[in-house]
Amino acid sequence: MGKASNWLRKERRKVLGHWVAVCVDCGHGQRWFEEFESEVPAECPTCGGKLLHRCPACQEPFSSMFAIACEVCEAPLRASTQFGMAIRKPERAPKPAAGDDPG
Ligand SMILES: [Zn+2]
Ligand SMILES: [Zn+2]
Repeated sequence: MGKASNWLRKERRKVLGHWVAVCVDCGHGQRWFEEFESEVPAECPTCGGKLLHRCPACQEPFSSMFAIACEVCEAPLRASTQFGMAIRKPERAPKPAAGDDPG
C-alpha cells in the first residue's frame, strides 16, 4: 500500500490542477484548474477573507501555495509576516510550458 499510495499521490497532484488560490487573511490554499476558473470562490471557505487566485497587478495565476509575491511581476500578494514569521521567498519554480495543453 505504501508504495502504491506514493505514486498515486503524485498522479493526483497532476490532476488536481496546477494553480493555487490562497486566502490573504488566513493562508488557506486550494488548487484550481484553468478550465474551471469560474468555480474558484472569491471568498475563503475557511474565514470568508479574500481568496486570491491571480496576481492583482498583472493577473498571472500562481503555482505555489506559499507564494508571497507574484512570480512574474513580483507584486506582493500578501503580508510576508503571516503566521508571525517571514515566509522565505521560494526559488523560481519552472513554469509549465504555455500552449502545452493536453486537452
Ligand atoms: Zn481565510
Ligand atoms: Zn504579477
